[in-house]
Amino acid sequence: MSFKNLRLIEPILKALDEEGYETPTQIQQKSIIPILEHKDILGCAQTGTGKTAAFTIPILQLLQEQREANNSRTRNIEVLILTPTRELAIQIGESIAAYGRHLRLKHLVIFGGVSQHAQVNSIRNGIDILVATPGRLLDLMQQGFISLSNIKFFVLDEADRMLDMGFIHDVKKIIAKLPVKRQSLFFSATMPPEISQLADMLLKNPVKVEVTPISSTAEMIQQAVYFIEKNDKQGLLIDILKDRSIESLLVFTQMKHAADKLSKRLNAAGINAAAIHGNKSQNARQTALENFKSKKVRVLVATDIAARGIDIDQLSHVLNYELPNVPETYVHRIGRTGRAGASGIALSFCSSEERSYLKDIEKLIKKSIPVKRWVGTQQEEPLVTKSTAPIKTNNLQTTKRLAIQKINRV
Ligand code: AMP
Repeated sequence: MSFKNLRLIEPILKALDEEGYETPTQIQQKSIIPILEHKDILGCAQTGTGKTAAFTIPILQLLQEQREANNSRTRNIEVLILTPTRELAIQIGESIAAYGRHLRLKHLVIFGGVSQHAQVNSIRNGIDILVATPGRLLDLMQQGFISLSNIKFFVLDEADRMLDMGFIHDVKKIIAKLPVKRQSLFFSATMPPEISQLADMLLKNPVKVEVTPISSTAEMIQQAVYFIEKNDKQGLLIDILKDRSIESLLVFTQMKHAADKLSKRLNAAGINAAAIHGNKSQNARQTALENFKSKKVRVLVATDIAARGIDIDQLSHVLNYELPNVPETYVHRIGRTGRAGASGIALSFCSSEERSYLKDIEKLIKKSIPVKRWVGTQQEEPLVTKSTAPIKTNNLQTTKRLAIQKINRV
């Protein structure tokens, strides 16, 4: 199947070609035509499946056709895309700019934490598509700068995240202001009852599209776990990074302060690292992300919320420095690699206190993660299926020594 089979107009096909997209992903194959046929969509898909393009491409096309048919010159906000984080909002904006580069549609991305001045000016100048996080949108609506009365297309992206992040009431307030006659597209990686209810409220006879359920980790991602005690994790990470084939590594920590501390330690060890988390200013987060994307920074240490929606082409390695206590988070995290069919490596450090988290993760993904032992840069053991008990050691040297002894015995 090619994009040409999806009834797309020439300027969009051209843009996709320029992006280097050859084959539509599963969610794109299943959603684009129904959206072009004005159907509502209930999409169960996580990030990394190509869902952003699945909804932006047909909306751009419908909007363009509508503008041409009406020969309209004025711009009203006709599309609203609601997403939970600033990073996701920015990425959706980048996707619209990329796929719509040969169309004459105007979009704007708004989020909190920055001055509203420039955002309000752009709205006054007229836009067709608004990408927003819920808080800032409500704020500008309440101040009278934004009206949703002309919305024809509404997208709710990452609905389950909205719930996790406590935005669900804001989302409901926004939905209440939408015109009744509209097309709605709803995306969520998981469907807990509260999210299903919201979908029922929002959608009319939706086409249900489901790809890669949350419990299945992408086949292309090679996973491995190191059993390593907390105090030894830093040393092991620095050791792993001696492997120059790891060009970029996204590291997850549970806490903001741990992300900062780890990035400082890595820099002290001569490894270019930066941290992103919710306490950092929007500018600092964007700079860190840009530097990571352009490979000025080799390691990006992130907490889950900050990392949500990080979209980096060809991110080859992800490391869970600490395992998440919510198993679904593991699937989200490792989904940062192996995107859109590329291969990836996801490593995890698991201390004795984290063993129960590992069990929950393995239960969710319905497979056991192979255990890896680090034996130095040049002598890494191949992945082995977990059958042996973890090595309990107080320091990294002992871990290595024991592993080397084991190899010698074999
Ligand atoms: P998403 O799931 O929307 O976060 O997209 C994941 C990544 O896949 C992004 O980097 C997209 O640019 C990329 N992508 C989306 N669709 C395709 C496609 N059909 N071919 C290649 N890459 C794609």
